Amino acid sequence: MILGCLGGIVLGLIYFVWRCPNLRKAWFFPPRKGFVALMYHHITEKPAESPDVADFSVTPDAFKEQLNFLREHGYTPISVKQLLHTIQTGHKHFQKPVMLTFDDATDDHYTCLFPLLKTYNVPALIFIITDFVGKPGYMTWDQIREMQQSGLVEFGSHTCSHRRLRSLTQPEIVQEITQSKKVLEAQLGCSVCSFCYPFGAGAFDKRVRPHVLKAGYTLDFSTKRGINPWPLRANKPILRAFPRGGETLWDFHLELTRGRSRL
Ligand SMILES: [Zn+2]
Repeated sequence: MILGCLGGIVLGLIYFVWRCPNLRKAWFFPPRKGFVALMYHHITEKPAESPDVADFSVTPDAFKEQLNFLREHGYTPISVKQLLHTIQTGHKHFQKPVMLTFDDATDDHYTCLFPLLKTYNVPALIFIITDFVGKPGYMTWDQIREMQQSGLVEFGSHTCSHRRLRSLTQPEIVQEITQSKKVLEAQLGCSVCSFCYPFGAGAFDKRVRPHVLKAGYTLDFSTKRGINPWPLRANKPILRAFPRGGETLWDFHLELTRGRSRL
């Protein structure tokens, strides 16, 4: 009888926590200091077709609010070059370092994101799927080069075809990792040292990650949420915080201090 009542109370509490959006947030995790890599996808006004996709679309206004928040709270958006320098020297250099990363190199990165990066003068890292460049919905090589020439945007590989690396054969995995690097370096005329796992798949897999390092990438970005140590050590995939479409600045604060906003 007593056990039944207790069980009912516990279930009721779980239901209450689950239904109450504020209690599903990560506010009670202890705040952590470190290097925050922010993971974005679309920056666009376009309404998302489904709630799943909506998470991956941040409006330009919301993104501007986030850039203002970073500025007002003393965060330093850093570039790949600055990050590599920190790894090599072990010096901390930057106060509250963050990196803005964008997956998939979609066309809104040129039309919506690029003007904002210029206005706010912040660096960004964009991950390109090399087979998709120039296809509908994705940037062209000319647009990519124009962004590169601005000095604000650096590019990394997001493989050739955006397949889940863990589901591929070893030769296919190597091909996706090495061929995309070759294409990017030929198109951009510089070495490419950043890699991002499609869907995060393979970042912590012994069948996949060693090929990324062997190919010559020095920074590999996962989709696992969290805050990285600072100065960054290059021995693990980089964790990323994930500001989603529709979130508030409080969520953004949680992303920056806990590495996640929701449980
Ligand atoms: Zn992707």
